[in-house]
Amino acid sequence: MRNLVIVLGDQLDRTSAAFDMFDAERDLLWMAELPQESEHVWVHKARITLFLAAMRHFAASLEREALPVRYLRIGEHPYSSFAEALGAEISSLEPKRLVVVEPGEHRVLTQLCGAAKRAGLPLDVRTDRHFLIDRKSFEHWAQDRKSLRLEQFYRRMRLRTGILMEGRKPVGGAWNFDRENRKAFGRAGPGTIRAPRLFPPDAVTLGVMQDVEVHYGDHPGSLQSFDWPVTAAQAQQALKDFVTHRLAGFGPYQDACWTDEPYLYHSRLSAAMNLKLLSPRVVLEAVIDAYERGVAPLASVEGFVRQVLGWREFVRGIYWRHMPEYLEQNSLRAQQPLPAFYWSGATEMRCLAETITQTLDHGYAHHIQRLMVTGLFALLLGVDPRQVHAWYLAVYVDAVEWVELPNVFGMSQFADDGMMASKPYAASGKYIQRMSNYCAHCRFDPADSTGDTACPFTTLYWDFLMRHEARFRRHPRAGMQWRNLGRLADEKREAIRRRAEKIRAELQGQGA
Ligand SMILES: Cc1cc2nc3c(=O)[nH]c(=O)nc-3n(C[C@H](O)[C@H](O)[C@H](O)COP(=O)(O)OP(=O)(O)OC[C@H]3O[C@@H](n4cnc5c(N)ncnc54)[C@H](O)[C@@H]3O)c2cc1C
Ligand code: SF4
Repeated sequence: MRNLVIVLGDQLDRTSAAFDMFDAERDLLWMAELPQESEHVWVHKARITLFLAAMRHFAASLEREALPVRYLRIGEHPYSSFAEALGAEISSLEPKRLVVVEPGEHRVLTQLCGAAKRAGLPLDVRTDRHFLIDRKSFEHWAQDRKSLRLEQFYRRMRLRTGILMEGRKPVGGAWNFDRENRKAFGRAGPGTIRAPRLFPPDAVTLGVMQDVEVHYGDHPGSLQSFDWPVTAAQAQQALKDFVTHRLAGFGPYQDACWTDEPYLYHSRLSAAMNLKLLSPRVVLEAVIDAYERGVAPLASVEGFVRQVLGWREFVRGIYWRHMPEYLEQNSLRAQQPLPAFYWSGATEMRCLAETITQTLDHGYAHHIQRLMVTGLFALLLGVDPRQVHAWYLAVYVDAVEWVELPNVFGMSQFADDGMMASKPYAASGKYIQRMSNYCAHCRFDPADSTGDTACPFTTLYWDFLMRHEARFRRHPRAGMQWRNLGRLADEKREAIRRRAEKIRAELQGQGA
């Protein structure tokens, strides 16, 4: 055999570089379901199901093309990890070379390099063309910059791709329309939003679900409502459905949350994109086309483009630029264990209970739920960022480390000392009250920081400001928040500190 071409679970793209110069006579495609990928963190059943179902569908489509595929199914082989499986497979298949597209996790790349080295084989790591900027070009942009900020990167990407550009000027005369966005629903709530198109499991996916129950029955989350796209064709349908029915409302309401409304105007496309069932270029073309046809306003389209062309590419660049050291950071020296309720949703805090329950039911929460509910609470409480990272990597169907880790360590927990975000995303319960209806049926009051009914977010917010006062008081962008501490009398500060300690002790007592 000439090449053993490894296709990873998040590389399900027939046009990827893995297939370049593929010779069915001399090469073999190799895919494997490996327990370590579901066990290195305690992975949600829906995430395992999504990956395995999409892999099995993809392998079947390759076989329909008469391409040679060796596919190792969970329970039908003795291997635990890539390192183990490849070691044995290389001995029996005797390829001359290993080929793989850049993996989405540093850990996996390390295992593949190790397996190739041990076997004395060259490993051809090919560029992942899924992304709009490759790692080298990101590095070129990033080098010599004192700090890396999304805004500069995003403008550069707009100029580079010509997306929403008129020559060198942004369409509509502005780079962003945030002032028109960030709306809450108000008391009346979101009204009727067309539900996203769902994809009930077919026979292949049902088979995976059975396997998941057998092998990972004790893992968190439910499969009751599993309805994610698992093929490229379904991902296209999901895109069309989003652009037709919800893109127009995306901009104004992207930050709003509402009880029993997990998706609102969000696209639900992250998982399909991260598995490479769907290309970001195709997604961007579809939303630009909607703008040009007058189906969606510029504020919504630009807001969406910023996420895909900006944030998604930016976090990947950050990840590869700083791994593996990135994982070691803990700039706020946070040490508290992750509260046990993150795995059950069993807490009196309604915002957390609803966001976590939704996460366990669907493997999904939208950006503000991740950043300003679960992420914010962990930040304010002072949870060890590695534990926060392990949770996020486990519970969301779209979690792959290149995108999850910078969002958690950088944007949400400020563990990277501001490499990615200029200041901590710290806020009190009042932010959640403004952007959702959660507080309306919660026993706590977001306006209070002390007393039995004080909102724990608000108590911990002021405590967070006090704990990090010396560091941020003179911060150019966050200073205002910290200067507000000056309004607090000493007795109030002390009462907040005591209550924060009590919250920490109680949560620690419940175990992680
Ligand atoms: C703490 C935390 C953890 C996160 N973990 C993940 C993760 O594991 N995987 C993941 O794909 N996204 C992650 N995100 C980013 C974002 O929350 C999700 O991409 C989004 O919620 C997915 O839902 P959607 O497809 O409906 O997105 P929409 O709200 O419809 O947004 C459109 C698309 O933009 C992209 N996008 C939006 N925000 C970001 C962002 N901050 N970084 C990268 N891409 C973005 C996604 O591809 C998304 O599909 C995380 C954010 C935070 C704050
Ligand atoms: S009052 Fe506080 S804990 Fe309760 S829902 Fe609002 S923000 Fe969450």
